[in-house]
Amino acid sequence: MAANKRRIAVLGSRSVGKSSLIIQYCQNEFVESYYPTIESTFAKTVPFKNAEYECEIIDTAGQDEFSILNSKHAIGIHGYVLVYSISSRNSFDMIQIVYDKIIDFCGVTNIPCVIVGSKSDLDKTGRQVKFDEGQKLAKANETAFVETSAKDNTNVAKVFELCLGEIEKRTPNNQAE
Ligand code: GDP
Repeated sequence: MAANKRRIAVLGSRSVGKSSLIIQYCQNEFVESYYPTIESTFAKTVPFKNAEYECEIIDTAGQDEFSILNSKHAIGIHGYVLVYSISSRNSFDMIQIVYDKIIDFCGVTNIPCVIVGSKSDLDKTGRQVKFDEGQKLAKANETAFVETSAKDNTNVAKVFELCLGEIEKRTPNNQAE
């Protein structure tokens, strides 16, 4: 694979806004989505630190505690975006479970990863998970952390910049395969 190709998988519970986040990032629009994602891949060329990266972003159907991680979500993936909604405690609890499944599946102790608290526009009306809780979880797992809103286009690009940064940290000399 070309050195500047980055494959990023987006995981998390159903309805946390994974598709909305990716579509806002790749197509600059917020669409109300009616169908649960089966699985789709999006492409975007991203300038990052004086280079251009061809990102392939994989949208997944969504996981729960019973899902078995698909090898497609582990093999050939450079980085992970794990999404919960700040308005769903359940989706937050799912993050550690999914993270542990990835670690287990890959047989590693650490992965390039960003934990994302989505729907930050619901801060005043529906917040169930505090910013500090997200930050603490990220720290405990040594991942990056950000809260975003696909609806307001807040911190959407930041998610993927952080992910490229995490990938770079763990693959010195731009040698990701
Ligand atoms: P997915 O199943 O994780 O891919 O979630 P979707 O992207 O399909 O979004 C699930 C629902 O949450 C849809 O009704 C979206 O319109 C809504 N949604 C997604 N992102 C946001 C957001 O940033 N703010 C708010 N308020 N709603 C959102």
